[in-house]
Amino acid sequence: MIIIMLGAPGTGKGTVASMLEKNIGIKQISTGDIFRKNMQEKTELGKIAEKYISKGNLVPDDITIQIVKDRLEQKDVQNGAILDGFPRTIEQAKALDKILEEKSKKVDMVLNLTTPEDEIIERIVNRRICSNPECKTIYNLVMNPPKQEGICDKCGSKIVQRKDDNEETIKSRIKLYMEQTSPLIKYYEEKGILRTEEVSIKINHLGKDVAEEVAKDINNIAK
Ligand code: ADP
Ligand code: ZN
Repeated sequence: MIIIMLGAPGTGKGTVASMLEKNIGIKQISTGDIFRKNMQEKTELGKIAEKYISKGNLVPDDITIQIVKDRLEQKDVQNGAILDGFPRTIEQAKALDKILEEKSKKVDMVLNLTTPEDEIIERIVNRRICSNPECKTIYNLVMNPPKQEGICDKCGSKIVQRKDDNEETIKSRIKLYMEQTSPLIKYYEEKGILRTEEVSIKINHLGKDVAEEVAKDINNIAK
């Protein structure tokens, strides 16, 4: 089963994807996490990606598509994957269709998350992540702070703020989302596989609620 997480930055794609991973036993593939790991390890890819990411721009399609193509070849995702942060452009979506078609697979569900913009900005400014690439737990200083300041509850590593999580880059990332990524909503709607969920404190519907609901539906279908 192939699931795509769609939604503007800060809507909770990463949170929902990692909860879904646990609940339905399918691996999450996050292009953002792959880039961050490479930046931390200062690989060639990391150096290239950093140039784009630090400015709030997208990493070019050819680089990103190749990374996902290679990742989808690995053994641990042959029963399915939750794609978090990919595709982000129509070109990436078309390339993904082709990659999957060659493996006699297809996109089964696109989970489109929406959140009011004021809430997105507040969430991103307060977002912190575990610096351990094997853990990557996401915290929010207001909604979901770590028990001990600056230390990950799960693995004890340092908690850091992403370099691109500042008010300046957020604005350009949201704009980029509107221009480049939001056309994907129509693309997948026409294929009849779009499921839209609002994630907002205002309606008391958070990422964990969405993850639970979707996991329940998927596990029911599997039975
Ligand atoms: P967010 O959803 O909060 O923007 P991500 O971790 O998904 O965070 O992505 C971080 C950054 O990595 C993006 O702003 C972009 O620069 C780059 N990136 C991630 N996925 C892609 C992609 N599919 N195509 C191009 N750039 C990407
Ligand atoms: Zn951790």
